[in-house]
Amino acid sequence: SIPMSYFAGLGAASKNGVLVKGGNYLEALSKAGVMVFDKTGTLTEGQFKVYDIITTNGIDKETLVKFTAYVESFSTHPIAVSIVKEYGRETNKENIKNYKETRGKGVEADVEGMHIASGNSTFLKEKGIDIKESEEAGTIVYTAIDGKYAGYIIIKDIIKKDAKAAVEGLYQLGMNSIVMLTGDRKVTAHTVAHELGIENYKYGLLPNQKVEEVEILMKHKGEKKLVFVGDGINDAPVLARADVGVAMGGVGSDAAIEAADVVIMNDEPSKLIYAIKIAKATKNIVR
Ligand code: ADP
Ligand code: MG
Repeated sequence: SIPMSYFAGLGAASKNGVLVKGGNYLEALSKAGVMVFDKTGTLTEGQFKVYDIITTNGIDKETLVKFTAYVESFSTHPIAVSIVKEYGRETNKENIKNYKETRGKGVEADVEGMHIASGNSTFLKEKGIDIKESEEAGTIVYTAIDGKYAGYIIIKDIIKKDAKAAVEGLYQLGMNSIVMLTGDRKVTAHTVAHELGIENYKYGLLPNQKVEEVEILMKHKGEKKLVFVGDGINDAPVLARADVGVAMGGVGSDAAIEAADVVIMNDEPSKLIYAIKIAKATKNIVR
């Protein structure tokens, strides 16, 4: 049977907006040593804003935004949401056929009879599109219309207000390492990691590569436990693989909340400090 104090711990956590799905996860949290964060939606707001639109090959900005918004209109990725918002009008779904999303890369569909592909540079290159890569900071979404490169949209995300305090507090709680994993590009990953004081980060990772990275870290964690914190977009398998999977409850999908062991209801990463403190206190009562 579960000791009473675990119930008290679970109750205290839930009162503060941290849902822990069992005493065993509190126990694991009390031994947390490796903290792995997803970037988008976890350390950053995941609410992108269009920052600049650069066209080429005789395409105008309105056309680029329109076709990118159309091809993105079935995607729930924060990148997609921001571009549809920039377009500002309803997309006529009847004119979108053969939609396909490649996770961690981009989307494609036939729009008004033309094949549209939008996504990162790897995605467009794989489709044989000759693009000129942008070095600008931010997340870059390249678009091709009917096999011809049409330009790119620069979108930017902001770091969550409490993310730096979360990282500092976790180091103070004695984490051996804090790692950030992202599918985004090097410049963006570097900017975020540097600003937050995270020394270890890996960028350009596909969803399955995030799982592989966590598996490597799991092998080297020693006695300590590995905690993965994500928003559930493209990282549900990682949530399941960690000793403790923590999902952001606000932006996370139902599937992510289901897959997670711990849910932070208001999406503030600093709640982790709180959860670990409760976990440690609970453990002391039991012993
Ligand atoms: P993160 O690891 O930062 O949470 P993701 O794994 O969700 O990021 O995505 C990685 C990269 O794949 C994005 O930075 C973007 O370049 C590209 N990408 C993913 N989904 C889309 C989409 N719907 N539209 C355009 N690009 C996308
Ligand atoms: Mg993500």
